[in-house]
Amino acid sequence: TIILGLESSCDETAAALVSGDGRVLAHRLATQEAQHRPYGGVVPEIAARAHAEALMPLVDAALEEAGLALADVDAIAATAGPGLIGGVMVGLVTGKALALAAGKPLIAVNHLEGHALSPRLADQSLQFPYMLLLVSGGHCQLLRVEGVGRYRRLATTIDDAAGEAFDKTAKMLGLGYPGGPEVEKAALRGDPKAVPLPRPLVGSGEPHFSFAGLKSAVLRARDSGKYSVEDIAASFTQAVVDCLVDRTRLALDQSEGLTALVVAGGVAANRAVREALSGLAESRGLPFVAPPLWLCTDNGAMIAWAGAERFRLGLTDGMDIAARPRWPLDPTAERARGAGV
Ligand code: ATP
Ligand code: MG
Ligand code: FE
Repeated sequence: TIILGLESSCDETAAALVSGDGRVLAHRLATQEAQHRPYGGVVPEIAARAHAEALMPLVDAALEEAGLALADVDAIAATAGPGLIGGVMVGLVTGKALALAAGKPLIAVNHLEGHALSPRLADQSLQFPYMLLLVSGGHCQLLRVEGVGRYRRLATTIDDAAGEAFDKTAKMLGLGYPGGPEVEKAALRGDPKAVPLPRPLVGSGEPHFSFAGLKSAVLRARDSGKYSVEDIAASFTQAVVDCLVDRTRLALDQSEGLTALVVAGGVAANRAVREALSGLAESRGLPFVAPPLWLCTDNGAMIAWAGAERFRLGLTDGMDIAARPRWPLDPTAERARGAGV
């Protein structure tokens, strides 16, 4: 089987073709970073229009790269949320139009499920259940992934997401947008022990996350004038890594029968994060799986792959499916904690 995947939930427009046995036949991506850079963050109206302009040319380019026609595709998967609603609507409506035109089923994919299953595209031997640390621009969660569509959220952030903390730190340090890769670059030239920074919630009995206090501490360190940008970036990264490792260790302690420790989402592209989690997995005798860097940040292949996983189970959607700005992977946990986290 061959699945076409469309992604448009944030500031990357992407289309990819993936086979049911996990081969990436083509993947195309257009980032809107340059268009949003003057504003220091994603502007929803600019994003929606840019998605509308970029998406179909990317679909055509992906088909051409794979040497396929739309008729060769078995199903069309499109991100249906969560994300900026204008962009999500562009991708979902395009997916519906292509599905109708080609007479193929539509699969509405949860963007977070795209991230959550991407490690299984990277490593076909990865079996359920695995412990997933999902660290992205909008989320920081520990999930027990029990199957396609079966997620138990063990922890979430009580304030900022990990990627958000990287982005805000970059902004405070004048490192530009998007922040994560810039902070990583600066951190390589800094001393991770130079600046004393807090490790919020480390040692607490529930594996939740918090990064707001760390952000304020970064601001104070900057304003003190005592530290270089590089030292602050390195010390900030170390603090985030320590929080992620401590909280993940607790979740592993509280969970049984896992096949692997897995990390996904944009922050999983950070080398210090990957190395620390790999060390944690090794200390537990667990395999560690992290997708290649291009598969960590937003892309079309992870949406096509989540579509392939759902298609295999017969999980397709009707044309009446709506775009959703919010769409938790584990609605039970979401309800239990109340809105906002
Ligand atoms: P979500 O998936 O939660 O809806 P999103 O799609 O915007 O949010 P992703 O594309 O998965 O998020 O990840 C983007 C985030 O990852 C940004 O916050 C970015 O700063 C961060 N990021 C990307 N590369 C790195 C890196 N090398 N180091 C740290 N953070 C990074
Ligand atoms: Mg992005
Ligand atoms: Fe994402």
